[in-house]
Amino acid sequence: MSEPQETIFSKIIRREIPADIVYEDDLALAFRDINPQAPVHILVIPKKAIAKLSDAQPEDQALMGHLLLTAKGVAEQVGLTNGYRIVINNGNDGGQTVYHLHLHILGGRQMKWPPG
Ligand code: 5GP
Repeated sequence: MSEPQETIFSKIIRREIPADIVYEDDLALAFRDINPQAPVHILVIPKKAIAKLSDAQPEDQALMGHLLLTAKGVAEQVGLTNGYRIVINNGNDGGQTVYHLHLHILGGRQMKWPPG
């Protein structure tokens, strides 16, 4: 398991760098991706610094569920009534670039399958 490192997302949580925040609660934050890959592209992150999904532990079970339900709620909040995609990139082969666990909400266009 990797130790969580300080990332740009920690700075967003602490409001040290700006972000277009669309939702916040005690456990999670959601903000628009700086380089959107779809008309709607929002990241949902835990405030707890878990580096990647494969580092999540049994004690994180409720938090993991909370993130998924938060993504669902944010998708509703921003009007994604015709569907959307949730993506978690995990580690190098998964294409992860920021090592603070995050769910991508992608919507506003037809998604393709398989992803690249
Ligand atoms: P990953 O490739 O790790 O799954 O996704 C990281 C995402 O974070 C990318 O989509 C990237 O555009 C986004 N990102 C990286 N730095 C920032 C930032 O400073 N602000 C925001 N809002 N998004 C960022």
